[in-house]
Amino acid sequence: MIIALKKMTMKFGLYYKDKNSDNASFLKEQLEKNGFVLDNVNPEVVFSVGGDGTFLHAVHSYLDKLDSIKFVGVNYGSLGFFCGYTKEDIPELIKELKEGLNVKQYSLLKGEIKYQDIEQVVYALNEIRIENPFHTLISDVFIDNEKLETFRGNGLMVCSSLGSSAYNKSLGGALIDSDLKVLELTEIAGLDNNIFHSLKSSLILDGNKKISFKGDLSSIVVGYDNLSIQKEDDLKEVIISMSDKKVNVVYSKNSSYIKKIRKSFVL
Ligand code: NAP
Ligand code: MN
Repeated sequence: MIIALKKMTMKFGLYYKDKNSDNASFLKEQLEKNGFVLDNVNPEVVFSVGGDGTFLHAVHSYLDKLDSIKFVGVNYGSLGFFCGYTKEDIPELIKELKEGLNVKQYSLLKGEIKYQDIEQVVYALNEIRIENPFHTLISDVFIDNEKLETFRGNGLMVCSSLGSSAYNKSLGGALIDSDLKVLELTEIAGLDNNIFHSLKSSLILDGNKKISFKGDLSSIVVGYDNLSIQKEDDLKEVIISMSDKKVNVVYSKNSSYIKKIRKSFVL
């Protein structure tokens, strides 16, 4: 969905890592010159200055305010899949801020992590994964409560279409058009011999489905975007689905998914 926004003044937040503080200062100056006001607590637009890693951090640090924020990625990183703008685009970006922004909305993934007695919920833009760095991970995989397989290997990952170009791509999963609301299940080094084997290929599922990993999952790491959890408690199940939380991402008017793929992976 594309939402046009018309506003003459607005409160903005700036998110960056130390190495980009000069670039962030430059952007701040340009924005303030044009009448925009810095407010990192209640911003209407958050500028992530850096790469995709920085963008992920920015979204996670405003998780409770996603409804009222639009995120703009200004790329100073190596790849910048989320970041539609570069330093050269700043004048054009300021024009768009005044005249109306192209906003696309994406659902975050939800991970329900169930221990013996407690449950924890996490959200992710790219992917949620379970990995065992110590032993072969053994987990049953259910899709909407229907058993698909018993998986043995290093781990299992579920990504959104937005996240399909990140870890999922390194694992051999398919790139998915970011406009599609689907889940992709991809294996991490599944055992493949005469005794134990698993599906192997990535499985792309309707976004309304729930994928659940069940079994003795103690000593696994649950990774979600740039974050991770490892607890001693007995972890029983991880359920991954599309959440109600949505993130608003601003793109320049002439950006396209194909252009991004070509720039990031082909050229
Ligand atoms: P990071 O070093 O910031 O990210 C690893 C690489 O993934 C960077 O080159 C980053 O681009 C790129 N990236 C992130 N999201 C992307 C997306 N949606 N599409 C295309 N490329 C994307 O590491 P981090 O801070 O821990 O970030 C966590 C993310 O890294 C995870 O969500 C996971 O997808 C990815 N990751 C990848 C692998 C792998 O490929 N083997 C392993 C672990 C994690 P920038 O250079 O622009 O930041
Ligand atoms: Mn990073």
